[in-house]
Amino acid sequence: MNKREFIKSSLITTAGLAAVPFAFGSNKDGLFSTDLTFDNVLDEYTLPPLPYAYNALEPHIDEATMKLHHDIHHNGYVTGLNKATTGIKEAMTKNDYGMIKHWERELAFHGAGHFLHSIFWEVMGPKQGQRVAVLDSYITKDFGSFDMWKAYFAASANAVEGSGWGILAYEPTADKLVILQAEKHSNQSQWTSIPILVLDVWEHAYYLKYQNKRKDYVEAFFNVINWTEVSNKFEKARNKH
Ligand code: MN
Repeated sequence: MNKREFIKSSLITTAGLAAVPFAFGSNKDGLFSTDLTFDNVLDEYTLPPLPYAYNALEPHIDEATMKLHHDIHHNGYVTGLNKATTGIKEAMTKNDYGMIKHWERELAFHGAGHFLHSIFWEVMGPKQGQRVAVLDSYITKDFGSFDMWKAYFAASANAVEGSGWGILAYEPTADKLVILQAEKHSNQSQWTSIPILVLDVWEHAYYLKYQNKRKDYVEAFFNVINWTEVSNKFEKARNKH
């Protein structure tokens, strides 16, 4: 796979969309065509409607809080996320990545904020419903019992430093449920994303050969990517949703 194909497929993968024809703007290497745009590649995000009435969770969570939380706070993350994707589109079009650290931070913070709130509304409701047997079996396998899970989840959520989230997550690599804390929304992650290609940029991964030249190590990495396995992981991740 050449450089252009890589960037094209990785971008489409990131956006989670089927193949959409597009190409880059100008490029220093002159490798990319300049005639297409980013339309439909990084779509805008929208605020999902609350799946029940604002007062549906009364008396446990009040109507005024729900209105403010959903309409103002959650909407703010959607706006911030769209702003970040616009900034990233501009950077890619101009091939100017001087602000990429800022935009990646915004993408993570507002993206995680948007996705976590979207899940938050869905996992609450006026009716409690029932857990499926397989979920109970994972809770027992990984936490001992439902009561032990509950005590741990509550303690973890209570102990989040500052603003953040208590999270019960499925970890597909180990096939386990895990309880984690998110500080703020993100700490540079979007919590619902499933990694399909990762690159270790800790110094221990490259210092012996590349010393402080992380850039050279990152460039070399593209020569050793196993795209068959990345494709497998992509398919698996897609099938889970
Ligand atoms: Mn919130």
